[in-house]
Amino acid sequence: MLNVHHSLLLSLTLFLLVSAQEEHQQDTPIARFQRYLRINTAHPNPDYPSAISFLKFQAQSIDLQARTLEFTPGKPVLLLTWPGTNPSLPSILLNSHLDSVPAEPSKWVHPPFSAVRSPDGKIFARGAQDDKCIAVQYLEAIRNLKAKNFAPIRTVHLSFVPDEEIGGLDGAAKFFPSKVFEELRVGFALDEGQASPGDEFRVFYADRSPWNLVIKAEGTPGHGSRMYDNTAMENLMKSVEVISRFRESQFDVVKAGDAANSEVISINPVYVKAGIPSPNGFVMNVQPSEAEAGFDVRLTPTADPDLLRRRIAEEWAPAWRNMTYKITEKGPLRDYMGRPLMTPTNDSNPWWSVFKQAITAVGGKLAKPEILVSTTDARYIRQLGIPALGFSPMTNTPILLHDHNEFLKDTVYLKGVEVYESIISSLSSFEEASH
Ligand code: ZN
Repeated sequence: MLNVHHSLLLSLTLFLLVSAQEEHQQDTPIARFQRYLRINTAHPNPDYPSAISFLKFQAQSIDLQARTLEFTPGKPVLLLTWPGTNPSLPSILLNSHLDSVPAEPSKWVHPPFSAVRSPDGKIFARGAQDDKCIAVQYLEAIRNLKAKNFAPIRTVHLSFVPDEEIGGLDGAAKFFPSKVFEELRVGFALDEGQASPGDEFRVFYADRSPWNLVIKAEGTPGHGSRMYDNTAMENLMKSVEVISRFRESQFDVVKAGDAANSEVISINPVYVKAGIPSPNGFVMNVQPSEAEAGFDVRLTPTADPDLLRRRIAEEWAPAWRNMTYKITEKGPLRDYMGRPLMTPTNDSNPWWSVFKQAITAVGGKLAKPEILVSTTDARYIRQLGIPALGFSPMTNTPILLHDHNEFLKDTVYLKGVEVYESIISSLSSFEEASH
């Protein structure tokens, strides 16, 4: 019994090895995607050198100019360029990030960096949806356009940035405000979006902006048996109640169907810290002198940050209740002109019409433009006043970013290449917009 089991396992392993090797040796669009997925760029130790050398090799094979920039040592930004026939026109930027979040291999049906393709065409890998697909799709689309002798009028740039998953502070936050980037004269940009479970492509015109909020209460310590006013725990719990009510008021709007999740301010408790540790857990007969709680807050692009700051100071962590607070803003809220970071998705934005038509031209349908629930590097582009859309061409695909068993189907991947061919050729041929 044991032997049969063993030999079955052995032949299965051999089969997987052989098929993995075959796919390794092929040089097809799918095999190239798998090769990129097999490079482990997950935090905390993303293998950026291997990712950059893979992408550079691909760029060379289709004759794109390549530059590697480094704003922080060990955090490379790769910039590829396909020069247009009229370089005086503002250029197009296609952005993606090199890194991914970690994966727990034991929770996956296939190892997260094996990029195994199942018989029904699902390619399993961390990064398959977020966002290595778009990086290779951009390149494949350009490869196909070049094979058809297409020549762009506007210059097309591709940027591959590090550290998006940890806030982009050493990546996008340094690259986009740089002199090098300014000299690219980007007129319109595309960045990552999200999978769509239905058959319409999703597109994002804004992100929510994250704040980390920590509130802290202080109070007189005392015996666990005594009831008295103004203990740290009592003060903290009062605040938690007030914050919960605000959370409910926002969530009720979503539950009533009057707004999407991304259209309200979210606030979620992520930790509570209090008590005096003892060998068996916590000391039970002492009321502690300090207590704190941490919250993940997400502001909609039109939310008034001053109003929220006032609410925090006056209601959520008032000094009269012996409370202090700390807000850590994790990115910009307004552009250089003080405007909310939103890219218009109407006729006032000529790029929008071109983008939309390019999708219809290949039989695609666009869903109603959305605000992204979370955040991407696009906010650093929008901060410069450059219109930017979040878009990852994945229809009929469950949303698995940061989840176990992240996968993308081969057919969906290949359709995405076709969609980008249409988008890149349309945007780069579009002569009217001068900025
Ligand atoms: Zn991403």
